[in-house]
Amino acid sequence: MAKELVFGHQSPDTDAIVAAKAYAYLQSKLGKDVEAVALGEPNMETNFVLNYFNEPTPRIIKTAANEVDSVMLVDHNEPQQSVSDIADVTVTHVVDHHRINGFNTAAPLYYRAEPVGCVSTIITELFDENKVEIPAQLAGLMLSAIISDTLLLKSPTTTDKDRAAVK
Ligand code: MN
Ligand code: MN
Repeated sequence: MAKELVFGHQSPDTDAIVAAKAYAYLQSKLGKDVEAVALGEPNMETNFVLNYFNEPTPRIIKTAANEVDSVMLVDHNEPQQSVSDIADVTVTHVVDHHRINGFNTAAPLYYRAEPVGCVSTIITELFDENKVEIPAQLAGLMLSAIISDTLLLKSPTTTDKDRAAVK
């Protein structure tokens, strides 16, 4: 089985970085050979969260096709927000909470989108659906991402699912 990279959008926010780590962890538990990477330096908030939970910063990539054939996207789908050579790799998974815009693939894929406040909320559901336990440290990161993306559950995008995931 060939290795796949998992990443969020360019100019990553806390959700983009954390969702890549969380989804890569879940996929590794499901038997996939994956690595969470980032498309840019974490911002100050994300660095605080990573330091607080003693988690390493993901490796930053500029291109993907030089090292893998397939990738998994989290927290985005629009090609212009993705890795520069996205057209040269196969997208096998998307987990996202944004509008779908300009996205298409040549092959079937796993695509999970829900109109919730944070993609880490969806990934929390995916852990439950797959009966995989979330390690405490990772749960702390995911909680931070939900707090960040929903502005402490006050954004108009916040849903009951986000509130449930926080609990
Ligand atoms: Mn984001
Ligand atoms: Mn997000």
